[in-house]
Amino acid sequence: MKNLIKIIFVLAVFLNLSFTSDDNKKITVIIDAGHGGHDHGSTSELVLEKELMKQISDKINVLNTNTEVTFLFTRTDDYFLSLKDRVEFITIHKPDLVISLHSNYTKNETASGVEAFVSDKSVAFEKSNELALKLVDEIAQNTSMNNRGVKNAPFLLLSKTEVPAITLELGFLSNEEDRKFITSEEGQNKIALTIIDFASKLKQ
Ligand SMILES: [Zn+2]
Repeated sequence: MKNLIKIIFVLAVFLNLSFTSDDNKKITVIIDAGHGGHDHGSTSELVLEKELMKQISDKINVLNTNTEVTFLFTRTDDYFLSLKDRVEFITIHKPDLVISLHSNYTKNETASGVEAFVSDKSVAFEKSNELALKLVDEIAQNTSMNNRGVKNAPFLLLSKTEVPAITLELGFLSNEEDRKFITSEEGQNKIALTIIDFASKLKQ
């Protein structure tokens, strides 16, 4: 009888360990398509930031084939979602990373490229910064976009979350080349696949 108890105990520990190591491999990433509903974000030449970000968010959903990576989406259609709602969604799910998708706009039409923001007000600032540098690098390498680096900004979505969080500015809608790239099927696929690949490597 003692032996049987021993065996059951060892088996339980083993099962527990194998479940734990499996869980450790699973990755959850929240994709936050910026703006939505009456909040159009930047607009240029009839292109709406809220629509583009939703398109890229959808592509991440469709193109992901890695079962170890779960993507969760704050916005799955064209509706308004407050920053508070987004932070709440993140707080509930506690993902390994949050990527908020946006595009830039400025009066200077020559400004172009991809950049990211992180907040030094966040408890996860260091990890966010490290991941943002890598992600911007990979997007710049896999696309034709300039690498504008990582900046610090006290955005609510970045500072109020306790997990690593990055706001990505995927090119300038005010720049013709960036606009063409980010509205193209090819450009959106390249961005989505780079984000999926980046997420897959989070726990390696
Ligand atoms: Zn935006």
